[in-house]
Amino acid sequence: MKVLILGGGVSGKSAKDYLEKRGDDVVMFDQHIDMCVVSPGIQVTSELDLGFLSKCKKVVAVTGTNGKTTVVTMLHEILGDKSVLCGNVGTPVTAVADQFKDKIAIVEVSSFQLEIPPRNFKPDISVILNITQDHLERHGTMQEYINCKSRIAGEVNVVNSDDPICRQLDLPNTVWFGGATHIEQNTNAVKAVLELLGVKKKFEYKRLPHRIEHIRTLNDVEFYDDSKATNVSSTLAACRLFEKSHAGHDVNLILGGLAKGQDFSELFAKLPSNVKNIFVIGDATKEILKSAKTWNGKTLQCQTMDAAIIKAAQTGTGKRIVLLSPACASFDMFKNYAHRGEVFKAIVADYSFQHLRQSQPKPYKRQVTSLRNL
Ligand code: ADP
Repeated sequence: MKVLILGGGVSGKSAKDYLEKRGDDVVMFDQHIDMCVVSPGIQVTSELDLGFLSKCKKVVAVTGTNGKTTVVTMLHEILGDKSVLCGNVGTPVTAVADQFKDKIAIVEVSSFQLEIPPRNFKPDISVILNITQDHLERHGTMQEYINCKSRIAGEVNVVNSDDPICRQLDLPNTVWFGGATHIEQNTNAVKAVLELLGVKKKFEYKRLPHRIEHIRTLNDVEFYDDSKATNVSSTLAACRLFEKSHAGHDVNLILGGLAKGQDFSELFAKLPSNVKNIFVIGDATKEILKSAKTWNGKTLQCQTMDAAIIKAAQTGTGKRIVLLSPACASFDMFKNYAHRGEVFKAIVADYSFQHLRQSQPKPYKRQVTSLRNL
């Protein structure tokens, strides 16, 4: 085949290697374009679908607005060498397709990867963890987002019955799971997949970095990094989790970044009452503050992550949580969500050190840390 690859990132490069190994004639184009007009007769495919030209023993595919990486990582850890982890989690499918033959492919699939309906990608087991508002700037409407997610449908479909949108999905051979918190839901999704695979193994829930990660406790204040919460529903899930796991603790929430077309009024309508104060940073500040007008708690606009952390730690009394769970993408101020989380962690570590010297006669005046060097 003569193949043109658009985009020379990790998956573009991997697709090029894969095709060249097969003897195809490949050209890669790596300049910014907004649209590609394709003549009839030219096949259009995704890197994900290309990889499944290679036959695989079994395919387990996981999608959802939130929890994908957590669930595929757990499945891969439980199944060990019998499985290969790939997809949106970071390893392109084409990079590991040569190992497929006698393994179970555990594939994390995003809605973007399902925009082009797949032909070769036919999961034996598909999992849809949840579908809530996200990426509307890309998909335009919620229906289009749901359509993309539904294209993951496989032979058997493991679907969340506690998610209102998932409940409406009419996929063949559905196995339902549910749970009261996002930890229970992810755990039960993993259990359902293991059962279908006939694997009887005990496992523990795994919390990955930047996903409600405990950073440190300082006097009455516990700091948590949930920088991976890049949409309203993941932030709501985190706040609800603290309502259960830390009853009586107030939550001071650090929120903001790039909105991605989200409507924040839903966040403020549904925030549990443990959230008392919100510290807003980043590009979406105006939108967030506007949506917060009807909310009972206090909001404060902050110029930097540093300022937000200091204010959040100092506000309130008694046992409390400072939670970075931004409900937004990070690219307005940071390289990515992980960078945002690392900046948070570094400032929190530094803050705790300074805080120990708080009893000095002069009030401590904090310098704003430069984010550039972190
Ligand atoms: P994804 O790969 O889908 O982005 P992650 O496992 O990286 O999912 O988690 C993303 C964010 O969503 C984190 O803030 C995490 O705490 C939260 N989260 C994880 N699982 C769920 C779930 N089932 N429901 C809601 N939020 C979740």
